[in-house]
Formats: sequence, C-alpha cells, structure tokens
Amino acid sequence: MDTECCTSPSTLDMNKLPIVRIKLNTPSLRCIIEVILPGLLENFENVSAEVVQCPDLTQPPFNLTSEGLCGDENVFDIGDVTNFIPSIKREKLYNVKDLKQITGSDPLVIIGACAGPYPFFGVDSECVENFKMTGDHVKNRTHVHMSMSDYNAEYFHKSLPDDEMRFSLMANFFSSNGFKGEVLKIVCEVRKGPLSFSTCISEALSKHFGDEIIALGGVILIENGKVKVHVIKPSLAKIPIKSEKELGNWLHFIELSPPSVGVGCIVSHDPGLNLRRQHFHLYTDRNEGGHYHNDTEPKTIKYTGYFGVSKQFIKID
Ligand SMILES: [Zn+2]
Repeated sequence: MDTECCTSPSTLDMNKLPIVRIKLNTPSLRCIIEVILPGLLENFENVSAEVVQCPDLTQPPFNLTSEGLCGDENVFDIGDVTNFIPSIKREKLYNVKDLKQITGSDPLVIIGACAGPYPFFGVDSECVENFKMTGDHVKNRTHVHMSMSDYNAEYFHKSLPDDEMRFSLMANFFSSNGFKGEVLKIVCEVRKGPLSFSTCISEALSKHFGDEIIALGGVILIENGKVKVHVIKPSLAKIPIKSEKELGNWLHFIELSPPSVGVGCIVSHDPGLNLRRQHFHLYTDRNEGGHYHNDTEPKTIKYTGYFGVSKQFIKID
C-alpha cells in the first residue's frame, strides 16, 4: 500500500473543467454496417453485421445496470495520458455523478473503461464502469481489477460500493438512458490481420467517414479464444515514466480464457483532442479482467459486439 492514500486529494468538479462538446451526425445503423464490412473483412475471416434489438444486458454474462444502450447517447473522453506521463497527477480525481448535470440525462447509464479511484484502494486499478443514476438514486455495479505486486502477476477483483463514484486519471465512457432498442451487432471470427476487434472497427469507420466523427459504445462478448489484457503494477505510482512506450514496463500482461465480456467505446477520428480511439476493459465471471489489447488465439477467436451510436462526443479536461 502506498502512503499517498492517507492524503487523498479532493475530487474535481467536472462541470468546472474545460468541456468540448461536438454534435455528431448519426448515420443509420444500416449505413454504418454497409461501409464498415469491407474493412472488417480485411482483418477477420468470417464477419457478419446486422441491426438487432439489444439483448437484455442486465442478464449474464453482461450483468449491466440496464437492459439496453438506447436514448440520449454520448461518448466521453475524460483526462488523457498526460495525467500519468511523465508523472502521475493524483489531483486528477473525478466523480461520475457530475455527468448527470453535463448530459441532463435521466436515467443516466454509464459503461466503459477508466482508472479506478486511487484513494479508495491505495493502488491503481483497471475499472469496469457500470453505473446508473435515476433522479438521485444510484445503482453502482462498478468493479476493478488490480495488482498488489510488481513481481507477481497475481491480481485481485473488487466491487465498488454505491457511494464510491470516483475514478482517477482518465476515462472513456458511453452514456445513454439504458433503454431497449435497436443496436449494431457485429460478429467477427478468425483473425487474419494485425488489428484488434475494436481497433479494426475504428479503422473501418475512419476509412469511410474521414474527418467526420462516428462514436460507438457498448459491449463485446468473447465466446472463443484467449485475449491479452493488462493490469497496472503498484510501482507506477512511484516512478516517473518518460514515454508511453516505457509504460509497458509498469504493466502485468495476462491472458484471459473465454468467455469474457468488455465495456467501452470506439471513436473513428481524433480532431486534435489527444483522445483514445478505442478503449475497453474486460471482465469474466471468474473475477478476472483488465485492459483489452488483442486476442492471442486468432484461429479460434470469436467476438460479438453490441453497440449504440452516439449523438454527441464530449471531451472533458
Ligand atoms: Zn484501460
């Protein structure tokens, strides 16, 4: 444990931080499917994409707080790598409930990838955000994966209580009302190219839409094939990192067996905001998880993604 946790900084009010809002064109789901299929087929042997009613995401293996991904959709990029390179900025501590005022959504449902609240655990962690706020009522099913040792890739899974709504450093969230409705279903099997599932979708969108931003958020189910994830080593908090390349030395890489599930978002284009084009955190019913990189068994891999399309992209801080 780090002693820094005893002098925890106060939480930033996201309403008072710089916010860039970009209203997005939302092409029809059928149009998106048509234009991304060629890009997906360059990287995967078997590909299908269709418009479907969202499966009930409150059910296993997803276990989200709401059934669907529809209504008042937003994709957020909060903070960035400059919050931990060249040194960790512990003052970068945010509260997810601020997004209620920023979006005006009610209910507000948030899923995605972020760094867990450092002061709560006293170590950095990979956080699976799974949050719903209806009026003032909070349902928080957020959980984290973390490591307590620099030398041992053993790692731990912890759930956050309803009233622990903070996160650290950076986040990529998809928000909606969580209503049922039509979503994109994308299935890719047998990887033959170098790209991960989420990078491949981002690249395929970018190829067609160019400078126009298309932002998706949702869930990925990995039914077959192992995937590579990372959790941060505790020493990240203490040693300055000069570059993103060096960051690899401060990560434990782990292979997750199927089935696993991921939450996160995909953005097709960065208009110079230093944002992450894709970011997913994975979890399993065996309490394993971490930050998704790519699969390690391309011949047997099977991804199924369900995505909502965002009407607005919001960059904070
Ligand atoms: Zn991550």
